[in-house]
Amino acid sequence: MSFLCRGWFALGAEFENTLRWKVGNGQAVSFWSDRWCNELPLSIVFPRLYRLAENKDLTVNQCWVTTSETGDWLLQLRRITQEEEVEDIAQLMAQLQSVVIDPGVDDEIIWNCQTSRAYTVKEGYKWWRRDTPEVPGMARRTSWLWKRKMPLKVKIFLWVALQDRLLTKSYRAKWRPESSATCELCDTDVETVDHLFCACQALIPFWGMLRTGSGAALRFNNKDELWEQMVSTKRPGDTRAQAEVRKILIPAALWAIWLCRNKKIFQNQRFYTENLWENTTHFIVDWGCGLAGAGAVQLSGQDFQIDPG
Ligand SMILES: [Zn+2]
Repeated sequence: MSFLCRGWFALGAEFENTLRWKVGNGQAVSFWSDRWCNELPLSIVFPRLYRLAENKDLTVNQCWVTTSETGDWLLQLRRITQEEEVEDIAQLMAQLQSVVIDPGVDDEIIWNCQTSRAYTVKEGYKWWRRDTPEVPGMARRTSWLWKRKMPLKVKIFLWVALQDRLLTKSYRAKWRPESSATCELCDTDVETVDHLFCACQALIPFWGMLRTGSGAALRFNNKDELWEQMVSTKRPGDTRAQAEVRKILIPAALWAIWLCRNKKIFQNQRFYTENLWENTTHFIVDWGCGLAGAGAVQLSGQDFQIDPG
Protein backbone atom coordinates (compact mmCIF):
# COMPACT_ATOMS: atom_id res chain seq x y z
CA MET A 1 0.00 0.00 0.00
CA SER A 2 1.41 3.36 -0.99
CA PHE A 3 1.91 6.21 1.45
CA LEU A 4 -0.78 8.18 -0.29
CA CYS A 5 -3.18 5.32 -0.03
CA ARG A 6 -2.56 4.89 3.68
CA GLY A 7 -3.07 8.61 4.18
CA TRP A 8 -6.41 8.41 2.47
CA PHE A 9 -7.52 5.48 4.60
CA ALA A 10 -6.54 7.26 7.78
CA LEU A 11 -8.56 10.28 6.76
CA GLY A 12 -11.42 7.98 5.82
CA ALA A 13 -11.47 6.41 9.27
CA GLU A 14 -11.39 9.78 10.99
CA PHE A 15 -14.23 10.99 8.85
CA GLU A 16 -16.18 7.88 9.59
CA ASN A 17 -15.81 8.60 13.31
CA THR A 18 -18.04 11.61 12.93
CA LEU A 19 -20.92 9.70 11.36
CA ARG A 20 -23.48 7.45 12.88
CA TRP A 21 -26.70 5.75 11.92
CA LYS A 22 -30.17 6.74 12.91
CA VAL A 23 -31.88 3.37 12.73
CA GLY A 24 -35.20 2.97 10.94
CA ASN A 25 -35.77 -0.57 9.67
CA GLY A 26 -32.20 -1.54 10.53
CA GLN A 27 -31.55 -3.22 7.18
CA ALA A 28 -28.53 -1.11 6.22
CA VAL A 29 -26.86 -1.05 9.61
CA SER A 30 -24.38 -3.62 10.88
CA PHE A 31 -25.30 -4.62 14.43
CA TRP A 32 -21.72 -5.03 15.62
CA SER A 33 -19.62 -2.86 13.31
CA ASP A 34 -21.56 0.36 12.74
CA ARG A 35 -22.18 3.24 15.10
CA TRP A 36 -25.86 3.37 15.86
CA CYS A 37 -27.02 2.96 19.46
CA ASN A 38 -23.72 4.05 20.95
CA GLU A 39 -21.00 6.54 20.03
CA LEU A 40 -18.91 3.46 19.25
CA PRO A 41 -19.57 0.25 17.38
CA LEU A 42 -20.90 -2.41 19.75
CA SER A 43 -17.97 -4.66 18.83
CA ILE A 44 -15.69 -2.15 20.56
CA VAL A 45 -17.90 -1.39 23.53
CA PHE A 46 -18.61 -5.08 24.17
CA PRO A 47 -15.55 -6.98 22.90
CA ARG A 48 -16.35 -10.06 25.02
CA LEU A 49 -19.83 -10.38 23.50
CA TYR A 50 -18.51 -9.68 20.02
CA ARG A 51 -16.19 -12.68 20.39
CA LEU A 52 -19.22 -14.81 21.33
CA ALA A 53 -21.36 -13.64 18.41
CA GLU A 54 -22.19 -16.56 16.12
CA ASN A 55 -22.48 -14.29 13.10
CA LYS A 56 -20.56 -11.04 13.22
CA ASP A 57 -22.13 -9.63 10.05
CA LEU A 58 -25.78 -9.49 11.10
CA THR A 59 -27.69 -6.31 10.41
CA VAL A 60 -29.63 -4.60 13.18
CA ASN A 61 -32.79 -5.78 11.45
CA GLN A 62 -31.67 -9.41 11.65
CA CYS A 63 -31.24 -9.13 15.41
CA TRP A 64 -34.77 -7.84 15.92
CA VAL A 65 -37.82 -10.05 16.23
CA THR A 66 -41.22 -8.44 15.88
CA THR A 67 -43.72 -9.54 18.50
CA SER A 68 -47.44 -8.81 18.81
CA GLU A 69 -47.10 -5.26 20.09
CA THR A 70 -43.48 -4.26 19.82
CA GLY A 71 -40.42 -6.44 19.38
CA ASP A 72 -37.47 -8.02 21.05
CA TRP A 73 -33.74 -8.29 20.57
CA LEU A 74 -32.40 -11.69 19.66
CA LEU A 75 -28.68 -11.96 20.25
CA GLN A 76 -27.21 -15.11 18.82
CA LEU A 77 -24.31 -15.73 21.13
CA ARG A 78 -22.30 -18.81 21.92
CA ARG A 79 -22.53 -20.18 25.45
CA ILE A 80 -22.16 -17.60 28.19
CA THR A 81 -19.85 -18.84 30.91
CA GLN A 82 -18.56 -15.84 32.80
CA GLU A 83 -20.09 -13.34 35.16
CA GLU A 84 -18.61 -10.45 33.15
CA GLU A 85 -20.37 -11.69 30.04
CA VAL A 86 -23.71 -11.69 31.83
CA GLU A 87 -23.11 -8.15 32.98
CA ASP A 88 -22.18 -7.16 29.42
CA ILE A 89 -25.45 -8.59 28.12
CA ALA A 90 -27.43 -6.70 30.72
CA GLN A 91 -25.64 -3.47 29.81
CA LEU A 92 -26.18 -4.07 26.12
CA MET A 93 -29.86 -4.84 26.66
CA ALA A 94 -30.29 -1.68 28.69
CA GLN A 95 -28.79 0.26 25.83
CA LEU A 96 -30.96 -1.42 23.20
CA GLN A 97 -34.15 -0.69 25.11
CA SER A 98 -34.33 2.84 23.79
CA VAL A 99 -34.08 1.74 20.15
CA VAL A 100 -37.24 1.11 18.15
CA ILE A 101 -37.12 -0.68 14.83
CA ASP A 102 -39.61 0.82 12.42
CA PRO A 103 -40.11 -1.33 9.29
CA GLY A 104 -41.55 1.62 7.38
CA VAL A 105 -38.56 3.94 7.77
CA ASP A 106 -35.18 3.76 6.02
CA ASP A 107 -31.97 3.95 8.01
CA GLU A 108 -30.31 7.33 7.84
CA ILE A 109 -26.73 8.51 8.31
CA ILE A 110 -26.41 11.47 10.64
CA TRP A 111 -23.51 13.79 11.34
CA ASN A 112 -22.29 13.39 14.85
CA CYS A 113 -20.61 16.66 15.74
CA GLN A 114 -19.85 15.58 19.31
CA THR A 115 -17.39 12.96 18.17
CA SER A 116 -14.44 15.13 17.28
CA ARG A 117 -11.88 12.83 18.86
CA ALA A 118 -11.37 9.12 19.28
CA TYR A 119 -13.32 7.58 22.13
CA THR A 120 -11.79 4.96 24.34
CA VAL A 121 -13.79 1.97 25.50
CA LYS A 122 -13.81 3.34 29.02
CA GLU A 123 -15.33 6.56 27.78
CA GLY A 124 -17.86 4.53 25.83
CA TYR A 125 -19.03 2.94 29.07
CA LYS A 126 -19.14 6.33 30.75
CA TRP A 127 -21.27 7.61 27.91
CA TRP A 128 -23.95 5.01 28.30
CA ARG A 129 -23.92 5.31 32.06
CA ARG A 130 -24.10 9.10 31.85
CA ASP A 131 -27.59 9.38 33.31
CA THR A 132 -27.30 6.48 35.73
CA PRO A 133 -26.58 7.78 39.21
CA GLU A 134 -24.14 5.73 41.27
CA VAL A 135 -26.20 3.60 43.63
CA PRO A 136 -24.58 2.87 46.99
CA GLY A 137 -24.05 -0.85 47.47
CA MET A 138 -24.45 -1.58 43.76
CA ALA A 139 -21.37 -3.80 43.57
CA ARG A 140 -22.58 -5.92 46.49
CA ARG A 141 -26.01 -6.29 44.92
CA THR A 142 -24.79 -7.27 41.48
CA SER A 143 -22.34 -9.80 42.87
CA TRP A 144 -25.16 -11.24 44.99
CA LEU A 145 -27.36 -11.45 41.92
CA TRP A 146 -24.87 -13.27 39.68
CA LYS A 147 -24.38 -15.94 42.34
CA ARG A 148 -28.07 -16.85 42.55
CA LYS A 149 -29.32 -19.92 40.79
CA MET A 150 -31.94 -18.53 38.48
CA PRO A 151 -32.29 -18.24 34.72
CA LEU A 152 -30.01 -15.78 32.99
CA LYS A 153 -32.93 -13.78 31.61
CA VAL A 154 -34.24 -13.23 35.14
CA LYS A 155 -30.84 -12.01 36.32
CA ILE A 156 -30.72 -9.61 33.42
CA PHE A 157 -34.25 -8.43 34.13
CA LEU A 158 -33.37 -7.77 37.79
CA TRP A 159 -30.12 -6.08 36.90
CA VAL A 160 -31.81 -3.76 34.42
CA ALA A 161 -34.55 -2.99 36.97
CA LEU A 162 -31.91 -2.18 39.58
CA GLN A 163 -30.37 0.32 37.17
CA ASP A 164 -33.82 1.85 36.68
CA ARG A 165 -33.57 1.04 32.99
CA LEU A 166 -36.44 -1.36 32.80
CA LEU A 167 -38.76 -0.57 29.92
CA THR A 168 -41.66 0.56 32.08
CA LYS A 169 -44.38 2.76 30.64
CA SER A 170 -42.81 5.90 32.12
CA TYR A 171 -39.44 4.94 30.59
CA ARG A 172 -41.07 4.37 27.22
CA ALA A 173 -42.96 7.68 27.44
CA LYS A 174 -39.60 9.49 27.69
CA TRP A 175 -38.83 8.69 24.07
CA ARG A 176 -42.37 8.14 22.83
CA PRO A 177 -44.23 11.07 24.35
CA GLU A 178 -47.51 10.03 22.73
CA SER A 179 -47.65 6.78 24.72
CA SER A 180 -49.41 6.54 28.08
CA ALA A 181 -47.31 6.22 31.24
CA THR A 182 -50.15 4.97 33.45
CA CYS A 183 -49.75 1.62 35.21
CA GLU A 184 -51.90 -1.06 33.55
CA LEU A 185 -52.49 -2.97 36.75
CA CYS A 186 -53.97 -0.21 38.93
CA ASP A 187 -54.82 2.25 36.16
CA THR A 188 -54.00 5.07 38.57
CA ASP A 189 -50.35 5.99 38.96
CA VAL A 190 -47.41 6.44 36.61
CA GLU A 191 -45.69 3.11 36.02
CA THR A 192 -42.12 3.39 37.24
CA VAL A 193 -39.93 0.59 38.66
CA ASP A 194 -40.64 1.89 42.15
CA HIS A 195 -44.36 1.99 41.54
CA LEU A 196 -44.72 -1.39 39.89
CA PHE A 197 -42.69 -3.38 42.37
CA CYS A 198 -43.19 -1.44 45.59
CA ALA A 199 -46.29 0.71 45.53
CA CYS A 200 -48.90 -0.52 43.06
CA GLN A 201 -52.27 -0.74 44.84
CA ALA A 202 -53.34 -3.64 42.63
CA LEU A 203 -50.51 -5.78 44.03
CA ILE A 204 -51.21 -5.24 47.73
CA PRO A 205 -53.21 -8.50 48.08
CA PHE A 206 -50.42 -10.41 46.33
CA TRP A 207 -47.69 -9.09 48.61
CA GLY A 208 -49.93 -9.80 51.60
CA MET A 209 -50.36 -13.38 50.45
CA LEU A 210 -46.63 -13.78 49.96
CA ARG A 211 -45.90 -12.27 53.37
CA THR A 212 -48.28 -14.69 55.09
CA GLY A 213 -47.06 -17.65 53.09
CA SER A 214 -43.35 -17.09 53.53
CA GLY A 215 -43.11 -15.35 56.87
CA ALA A 216 -40.81 -12.79 55.24
CA ALA A 217 -41.26 -9.09 56.03
CA LEU A 218 -41.55 -7.97 52.39
CA ARG A 219 -42.13 -4.29 53.00
CA PHE A 220 -40.37 -1.74 50.83
CA ASN A 221 -41.11 1.77 49.63
CA ASN A 222 -38.69 1.89 46.73
CA LYS A 223 -36.38 -0.36 44.77
CA ASP A 224 -33.40 0.37 47.05
CA GLU A 225 -35.27 -0.97 50.05
CA LEU A 226 -36.48 -3.84 47.91
CA TRP A 227 -32.90 -4.72 47.00
CA GLU A 228 -31.75 -4.48 50.59
CA GLN A 229 -34.40 -7.02 51.60
CA MET A 230 -33.59 -9.20 48.65
CA VAL A 231 -29.91 -9.53 49.51
CA SER A 232 -30.34 -9.84 53.28
CA THR A 233 -32.62 -12.80 53.65
CA LYS A 234 -30.74 -14.71 56.34
CA ARG A 235 -32.83 -15.93 59.24
CA PRO A 236 -31.69 -17.88 62.27
CA GLY A 237 -32.69 -21.54 62.20
CA ASP A 238 -33.15 -21.79 58.44
CA THR A 239 -31.96 -24.98 56.83
CA ARG A 240 -29.68 -24.45 53.88
CA ALA A 241 -32.51 -25.24 51.51
CA GLN A 242 -34.87 -22.80 53.21
CA ALA A 243 -32.21 -20.12 53.04
CA GLU A 244 -31.84 -20.76 49.32
CA VAL A 245 -35.57 -20.48 48.80
CA ARG A 246 -35.67 -17.18 50.66
CA LYS A 247 -33.02 -15.85 48.31
CA ILE A 248 -35.15 -16.50 45.26
CA LEU A 249 -38.49 -15.54 46.81
CA ILE A 250 -38.41 -11.84 45.89
CA PRO A 251 -36.81 -12.39 42.45
CA ALA A 252 -39.52 -14.95 41.65
CA ALA A 253 -42.25 -12.53 42.77
CA LEU A 254 -40.81 -9.66 40.70
CA TRP A 255 -40.44 -11.87 37.64
CA ALA A 256 -44.03 -13.08 38.02
CA ILE A 257 -45.27 -9.48 38.32
CA TRP A 258 -43.32 -8.44 35.24
CA LEU A 259 -44.62 -11.32 33.10
CA CYS A 260 -48.17 -10.76 34.31
CA ARG A 261 -47.88 -7.05 33.53
CA ASN A 262 -46.57 -7.84 30.02
CA LYS A 263 -49.44 -10.25 29.37
CA LYS A 264 -51.89 -7.59 30.44
CA ILE A 265 -50.31 -4.97 28.18
CA PHE A 266 -49.43 -7.00 25.11
CA GLN A 267 -52.03 -9.78 25.12
CA ASN A 268 -54.78 -8.03 27.05
CA GLN A 269 -54.93 -10.93 29.52
CA ARG A 270 -56.77 -10.22 32.75
CA PHE A 271 -54.76 -9.97 35.89
CA TYR A 272 -55.51 -12.19 38.90
CA THR A 273 -53.70 -12.24 42.23
CA GLU A 274 -54.06 -16.05 42.27
CA ASN A 275 -52.17 -16.37 38.97
CA LEU A 276 -49.37 -14.24 40.30
CA TRP A 277 -49.20 -16.42 43.36
CA GLU A 278 -49.15 -19.63 41.32
CA ASN A 279 -46.49 -18.32 38.97
CA THR A 280 -44.28 -17.20 41.84
CA THR A 281 -44.39 -20.59 43.54
CA HIS A 282 -43.89 -22.28 40.19
CA PHE A 283 -40.71 -20.28 39.57
CA ILE A 284 -39.41 -21.05 43.04
CA VAL A 285 -39.96 -24.78 42.57
CA ASP A 286 -38.58 -24.66 39.04
CA TRP A 287 -35.42 -22.76 39.92
CA GLY A 288 -35.17 -24.70 43.16
CA CYS A 289 -35.22 -28.02 41.28
CA GLY A 290 -32.47 -26.58 39.11
CA LEU A 291 -30.53 -26.10 42.32
CA ALA A 292 -31.10 -29.68 43.37
CA GLY A 293 -30.15 -30.91 39.92
CA ALA A 294 -26.92 -28.96 40.01
CA GLY A 295 -26.07 -30.68 43.26
CA ALA A 296 -25.78 -27.35 45.03
CA VAL A 297 -28.52 -28.04 47.51
CA GLN A 298 -31.31 -30.58 47.90
CA LEU A 299 -34.84 -29.23 48.12
CA SER A 300 -38.03 -30.90 49.13
CA GLY A 301 -41.60 -29.57 49.11
CA GLN A 302 -41.67 -28.81 52.81
CA ASP A 303 -38.59 -26.62 52.51
CA PHE A 304 -40.62 -24.07 50.63
CA GLN A 305 -42.96 -23.38 53.52
CA ILE A 306 -45.05 -21.29 51.23
CA ASP A 307 -48.78 -21.55 50.90
CA PRO A 308 -51.41 -18.88 50.47
CA GLY A 309 -52.19 -19.04 54.19
ZN1 LIG B 1 -50.07 0.28 39.51
